[in-house]
Amino acid sequence: MSVNFTETPIEFLKGVGPQRGEILKKQLGIFTFNDLLHYFPFRYVDRSKFYSVNEISEEHPYIQIIGTIKTVTTQGDKRATRLTALFGDETGTIDLVWFHGIKWMREKLRAGTKYIVFGKPTMFNGRFNMVHPEIEEYSEAALKSAGGLQGVYPTTDMARLKGFDSKAIARIQKSLITLLPRTIPESLSSDVISSEKLMSLRDSYVNVHLPSDTGLLQKAIYRFKFEELFYIQMKLLMSKQIRMEKIRGFRFEKIGEHFNNFYHNHLPFTLTDAQKRVLKEIRFDCGSGRQMNRLLQGDVGSGKTVVALLCMLMAIDNGYQSGLMAPTEILASQHFDTISELLKEMDIPVALLTGSTKTKARREILQQLHDGYLKIIIGTHALIEDDVQFKKEGLIVIDEQHRFGVQQRARLWMKKDETPHVLVMTATPIPRTLALTLYGDLDVSVIDQMPAGRKPVKTVHRYESQRLSVFGFMREQIALGRQIYIVYPLIDESEKLDLNNLMAGYESISRDFPAPQYRVSVVHGRMKAKDKEMEMQRFKEGKTHIMVATTVIEVGVNVPNASVMVIENADRFGLSQLHQLRGRVGRGADQSYCVLMTGDKIGNEARKRMKTMCSTTNGFEIAEMDLQMRGMGDLAGTQQSGVMNFKMADLAKDQDILEKAREVAISILKDDPSLLLPQNAVLFQQLQSEQKKQENFSRVS
Ligand code: ADP
Ligand code: MG
Repeated sequence: MSVNFTETPIEFLKGVGPQRGEILKKQLGIFTFNDLLHYFPFRYVDRSKFYSVNEISEEHPYIQIIGTIKTVTTQGDKRATRLTALFGDETGTIDLVWFHGIKWMREKLRAGTKYIVFGKPTMFNGRFNMVHPEIEEYSEAALKSAGGLQGVYPTTDMARLKGFDSKAIARIQKSLITLLPRTIPESLSSDVISSEKLMSLRDSYVNVHLPSDTGLLQKAIYRFKFEELFYIQMKLLMSKQIRMEKIRGFRFEKIGEHFNNFYHNHLPFTLTDAQKRVLKEIRFDCGSGRQMNRLLQGDVGSGKTVVALLCMLMAIDNGYQSGLMAPTEILASQHFDTISELLKEMDIPVALLTGSTKTKARREILQQLHDGYLKIIIGTHALIEDDVQFKKEGLIVIDEQHRFGVQQRARLWMKKDETPHVLVMTATPIPRTLALTLYGDLDVSVIDQMPAGRKPVKTVHRYESQRLSVFGFMREQIALGRQIYIVYPLIDESEKLDLNNLMAGYESISRDFPAPQYRVSVVHGRMKAKDKEMEMQRFKEGKTHIMVATTVIEVGVNVPNASVMVIENADRFGLSQLHQLRGRVGRGADQSYCVLMTGDKIGNEARKRMKTMCSTTNGFEIAEMDLQMRGMGDLAGTQQSGVMNFKMADLAKDQDILEKAREVAISILKDDPSLLLPQNAVLFQQLQSEQKKQENFSRVS
């Protein structure tokens, strides 16, 4: 058999042909035998068990019965609109019902004949029936082929309409499996297969599509998951390797005057052990002569900013400039304020550059950056515009990276011939599986410790009916001199409805907290940056008590005196977002509170989210829970990432396999970094052919 068997175009498969082949290609993306073999079931039904009619209960999902058809009748006036077959065994009867394909079924079904029926029982008018069951005449052969586990395949409405429902896909899978040559080329090396005790590729195809028992099915699934995760890790690790070899970084050799002066004389607190550790990791990277590409994860409030600042000082000591990029103007200017304040007794030129920087000021800043006078520039996306030219750019810090996405991350350093060190800071703790997959090519540092003296935010869930008591609590807190955030969900900032919701909330709050005793401000995404800024400023300076806002305050805003966060319609937020919002409070010395408001009736999932929030303040725990509850589709940052299109693996469930796959990949690359050894040839080829496929794909789309 030719080596290229699996690359055979799908139309050559028996039972497919050119026309149906087109449907498979267009609708399901199946072009070759290989594509079909990798078109996996998304679940399996167990057809090894048979039920008798009197055992049926409504709890059963799909069940299988052997029995005899007693009568076949049709209902409907001129044309039959329904066909009912009375079907049963010695314990009772049920109705089998068809609403289409009636003519064909009527010819097929014969009273007095024994059948195997498979379907989902539902109760209707006090009787069980099955709508559109699978039905097959009873025979020893049929019994044998019905038995066991059967795959249920994903399909589309259009494909189904054109004849490719799950069952039809199963049929062509089966005919392909019977054609499989005795040996097919492996897609993993024999070393890996034997050391990991993986099922062979051929057996895995057979067992994933036509499993003969659960054990074998599990082994087949494991193999495909392992393989998928393994190659992703291979790719990430190899690109990291290339970066480390090829891309030289500026050497930050010394810790000099600026760093030391700040560290010993101006740092307003002692660093936590976690901050110190991370700083050491960064120093090592920047001094190594390789380009640093590091992700710094740390929960909100863990103190990432000062770590970034210390790195920038290190850059200055070695003759380099630094840039700090934030996702919003508010955040950029807040960083600017914080850093200017921290550096106020040192003579270090710092500037802020955003979209609303005036032309004249902008020109001046760009000039100062270009001639090397400016040592630190802080800004938004404005920093990646082409006319922003540093004299000696040594370090770029990106805050809250998930807002930028991978593309922009790349652009920052692609722009230059020389590559500055890159430190990406994210306050979104992500589960390890996700971190390894999204950022497996970066080095990761984690600040897993809060500055001393922080009191964890007390979180409660309150229902609409308890609103008055929540207001009472707010008044108490204001009387104690504290300030309060009230946040409304905005699904889409352009949506009028949401804005109305916010403004209605603002008005009602203003009624319950009337001037002049109380002052309420409002901030939302539709406001001009300047107005937003002004309102935030008023709140920051303590001129207003309550800040009614949309999620614009989500990231980074720092008002230590604000110690209460009320989140309206909290059930409309995801866990990670709730956690981010809650991070806005608990920044000062006072006890802080987070009140999650929901309607009196909420769903189970929402209730679970509220419970999680009330029970932990650990961002990693929450992120893990989020992944478990939502699956990986919705998680921040995953959309832009091509690596997230898994066929088999599931990051919410397969952490162990991922760790194993990464470990194996690391150990292979350690001995053979370029995969040149003969025993790794298969891996090399596989990576190359995936690369080629990806290129073809990007050319097409
Ligand atoms: P994030 O990691 O969310 O960006 P920040 O850098 O904004 O956190 O720090 C939160 C607050 O904690 C700031 O007010 C900062 O000055 C303070 N802070 C940071 N590190 C320490 C520390 N080691 N001890 C005490 N306070 C700290
Ligand atoms: Mg921050």
